Amino acid sequence: MFSERDTQGPVSRRGSIEVVCGSMFSGKTEELIRRMKRAQFAKQKVEIFKPSIDVRYSVEDVVSHDHNTIQSTPVDSSGNILLLTADIDVVGIDEAQFFDAGIVDVCLELASRGIRVIVAGLDMDYKGVPFGPMPALMAVADDVYKTHAICVHCGDLAYVSHRLVASEKRVLLGETDSYEPLCRACYAKALAREAQSAAEANHSSNI
Ligand SMILES: [Zn+2]
Repeated sequence: MFSERDTQGPVSRRGSIEVVCGSMFSGKTEELIRRMKRAQFAKQKVEIFKPSIDVRYSVEDVVSHDHNTIQSTPVDSSGNILLLTADIDVVGIDEAQFFDAGIVDVCLELASRGIRVIVAGLDMDYKGVPFGPMPALMAVADDVYKTHAICVHCGDLAYVSHRLVASEKRVLLGETDSYEPLCRACYAKALAREAQSAAEANHSSNI
């Protein structure tokens, strides 16, 4: 269970890796920002990094959907994070699913330097497949915290971000309207409905 015990003072500074992950609309970026602001309030030096692919709102801020912001630095590759973290106590990494596989070693290296690392990202893509480096990050983390959206069909806890538009691309950047959080049961029903309508469309085009 995640513990908010902070032993990051100058005497007992020790590194750690925390992963906050879940579907879209689950509040994972808000949780990252909450932890970062809490550390910032305690006069710890904090910095957030995100992949430069995530250009939805602003180049310089991590902006969650409710516009609760904290300054951040976009980086092209995970290796750049190591170059930019001298004298930082707490490193935040947002949208970690978009980083290259090297992000895992970067987090381990930061933790070995005594830095507290807080990683936020999508656990799965719209098909329910584990996303990029997230499974490996969860494996090496000290703590993993899953955030959940609410299923828009039944109000249960959501499991996956179901895509509402037909596209095989893994990422539709900037198109949050194209997804809905669904629980397992409603996701299965949605897939069955889609298969049915695809079959019907196929059938009518063959007549
Ligand atoms: Zn549901």
